[in-house]
Amino acid sequence: MNLLDYLPTIPDFPKPGIMFKDISPLLANQTAFSYAIDQLHELSTHHDFDYILGIESRGFIFATALAQKSKKGLVLARKPNKLPKQVFSENYGLEYGKDSLEIQQDILPKQSKILLIDDVLATGGTLIAAANLVKKSGAKVVGSLVLLEIFELMGRERLLNENIPSNALIK
Ligand code: 5GP
Repeated sequence: MNLLDYLPTIPDFPKPGIMFKDISPLLANQTAFSYAIDQLHELSTHHDFDYILGIESRGFIFATALAQKSKKGLVLARKPNKLPKQVFSENYGLEYGKDSLEIQQDILPKQSKILLIDDVLATGGTLIAAANLVKKSGAKVVGSLVLLEIFELMGRERLLNENIPSNALIK
């Protein structure tokens, strides 16, 4: 099955000049979606991890499915001001703007091993911000996994510079 058939490119979204890969048709097709989850789960078994960290908001979709399949806990990295209790925060630059992510300060046990999950790796800024939140918690990032890597944007290199192994189902 060629999953790229279910990931059309939408030009000039959300800003002029951005070629956006839309995951909606993949999610809407039951066969493609469950195939993607099975394959991502297979890739996740190459890591030894205690928790999955899902990134808001499309990362939540894949992180939830993988946490269930792996029988691991799910921790949410959320956009600002969504989580109750004290949080760690990280600001980061995006291909098309700026954003920040937060996790609760007491949610990850120190020294626990964390696998980061998102839908797309573009420049890598989002996954690096998520990794920094894990480090602030005293936990350890064992790797990152995405559905799709946009190779030209060199996110993999940036992640490697930060010692974050990355893997993608589709490149
Ligand atoms: P990065 O921080 O690696 O530049 O961008 C990755 C983040 O932006 C991910 O959270 C992802 O959801 C979003 N993103 C960037 N480009 C795309 C894209 O073309 N398609 C989708 N679905 N998400 C994207």
